[in-house]
Amino acid sequence: MQTIKAAVCREFGAPLVIEDIRLADPGFGEVEVTLDAVAICHSDISYAEGAWGGHLPAVYGHEAAGVITALGDGVSEFQTGDTVVVTLIRACGTCPNCAGGKPTICENPTDGVQGPITTADSEPLLQAMACGAFAEKVVIHRSQIVKIPSDMSREAACLLSCGVITGVGAAVNAANLRAGQDVVVIGAGGVGLNAIQGARIAGARRIVAVDMTEEKLDIAKEFGATHGVLASDPKPWRKSYKALGGRGADAVMVTVGAAGAYNDAPKYLGWGGKAIMIGMPHADSHSEYSPMGMSYQGQGLIGSKMGDTVIQRDIPWMVDLYQQGRLKLDELISGRWSLDQINEAIADTKTGSAKRNVILF
Ligand SMILES: [Zn+2]
Ligand SMILES: [Zn+2]
Repeated sequence: MQTIKAAVCREFGAPLVIEDIRLADPGFGEVEVTLDAVAICHSDISYAEGAWGGHLPAVYGHEAAGVITALGDGVSEFQTGDTVVVTLIRACGTCPNCAGGKPTICENPTDGVQGPITTADSEPLLQAMACGAFAEKVVIHRSQIVKIPSDMSREAACLLSCGVITGVGAAVNAANLRAGQDVVVIGAGGVGLNAIQGARIAGARRIVAVDMTEEKLDIAKEFGATHGVLASDPKPWRKSYKALGGRGADAVMVTVGAAGAYNDAPKYLGWGGKAIMIGMPHADSHSEYSPMGMSYQGQGLIGSKMGDTVIQRDIPWMVDLYQQGRLKLDELISGRWSLDQINEAIADTKTGSAKRNVILF
């Protein structure tokens, strides 16, 4: 047991509080990672605003990278001193989904309230998303980490743990894109830019980005979009057909958490096209589409959690593409902050103009 600093949510919608918390030693199958970097994701903000409920007090944060500083019993594949990416994808390894190659939908989630952290007064403290990475250290399960080269920039590496694998994985794993296909990506934020570069890596022919401002569409083009359409257009899908030579897309990836975007997503599709649902709206939002149209045209709606990523398979190839200059990570970072500045970093992320804000320890 040790005392570390963390940013704690004590009340939904209120600023996070920097306080000392208690962290248990790693148990069986667990490791302790001392963090170098953690990025702020819109999921952290949704949780902190109370959009998805959950126990309080809580420590959010789930896009992290650091160095292993202690090993629990039964961990032989890692050593102290290993540099790792820390993800929220905790996999039991034996349920039907894990065994079937889909650890992102493991059927045995853990109870984060019974996790390794408590308040300084030993009161229960939620280790949100099995990470609790708005803190100097985390104790997490061996299945959640992947070793990366020790000389890799940690601020770039931490992005691999959520936004990048979610977007690139949606293109490569969930949409299963192949060379020559046409793609629409709704939202050019932290996940959307990665869906765009995932489509580029998969060999898409034309990639249409849809977002609210010309500035965001210009950034989308730096990541591989071939066309941009303003979401404020009364019928933006018509502009998309035009960009795609008069036809609908083979895949549309919805990377924003807005029900309206989900209502419109099927309208961008061509016959046989698939809508990939990535962004997570608030728990009480609902969406409408025409089942008849989708059935008649052989279209599909596919939910994709964390890009259907198998971290041990996918993060190493993404690291290689980054080192070859084919996957942009440094360009995703728009701000660097200290843990003490986390509320300012969150406020900056909420403006919607930032790509990824990173806390450096
Ligand atoms: Zn995230
Ligand atoms: Zn499982």
